[in-house]
Amino acid sequence: MGEFDLIKHYFSQHQSLQREDIILSVGDDCAVTAVPKGYQLAISTDTLVCGTHFLDSISPIDLAYKSLAVNLSDLAAQGAKPVWVSLALTLPELNKEWLKNFSDSFFSTLQRYHTALIGGDTTKGHLSLTLTAQGFLPASKGLFRHKANVGDAIFVSGTLGDSAAGLSLLLAQQAISHSHQHYLLQRHLRPTPRVELGQALIPYSQCAMDISDGLLADLQHILNASQCGADIDIAHLPLSSALKENYTLSQAEQFALTGGEDYELCFTVPPSQISAIKQLSLQLDIPCTQIGVITNHIGQLRLFKHQSPYTLPDNLGFDHFG
Ligand code: ADP
Ligand code: MG
Repeated sequence: MGEFDLIKHYFSQHQSLQREDIILSVGDDCAVTAVPKGYQLAISTDTLVCGTHFLDSISPIDLAYKSLAVNLSDLAAQGAKPVWVSLALTLPELNKEWLKNFSDSFFSTLQRYHTALIGGDTTKGHLSLTLTAQGFLPASKGLFRHKANVGDAIFVSGTLGDSAAGLSLLLAQQAISHSHQHYLLQRHLRPTPRVELGQALIPYSQCAMDISDGLLADLQHILNASQCGADIDIAHLPLSSALKENYTLSQAEQFALTGGEDYELCFTVPPSQISAIKQLSLQLDIPCTQIGVITNHIGQLRLFKHQSPYTLPDNLGFDHFG
């Protein structure tokens, strides 16, 4: 099987979703697509390199899922609706079983988000994947890092820190119940991109990002881009029971503040929209928790615990999981 047969067999259109906005898909020099009137295109690219972004031991099924999930998460963070992706795949060898598992998982995940594979590239080398995801954004709308305003409430979706705990379980054995272990590993290997939530936030919020590098690091990007500060009360951090029951509170908080790859959304809303967010959270069945407020202290992220100033203990070594 050569390169072209491989592409045809594992990555071509017949397995992909049919969409009216695709004029030409996999097989020609370029894909050709159409953006409907009244929409703009949000475009994001992410590369995952074996050994850097995922462990050698990852299954092709989880790898296909995660590579898509992290890209769709970027679209979600902008409030965009995913529509098309392209995939540049570098493979060390032609392993049919690996490719079949990867491709099945990739297409079933695409299907779940009504998104189509429209092209890519296939090369030989160390295992790595580059995905470009494109999504529709209603014209002149969107959730942007530079749009936080002083007085906005800061919310996060879901729970934080689970993925970092899951990664630590993959790296070192730990005595922890089977169900909690399963939960934390799934949160690491199969994060849920908050695609529905991102789009649903558009009427209420102007500012969001997804948490890929850890809440503190990512929130700082919002503060820099919006020229504002944030006060966070860490007593309000949403923590899963798997995290709370298996780690000390201080460890759990450390995971939640500095652990990456949760792919939850951090977003800000004016105080007048707080009740709408609570309603939306119930409606979508996605927890959304207020953890702080945007302040006028430019660039400063201040931590509090039950309203008292709080300094992060620096002896917990979150670098191990960085
Ligand atoms: P070219 O040499 O013109 O760049 P390629 O041989 O790289 O074309 O690719 C042939 C077609 O297959 C193109 O339409 C390209 O988008 C598609 N393609 C290549 N690799 C992949 C892949 N991994 N997933 C999806 N489409 C792919
Ligand atoms: Mg090419």
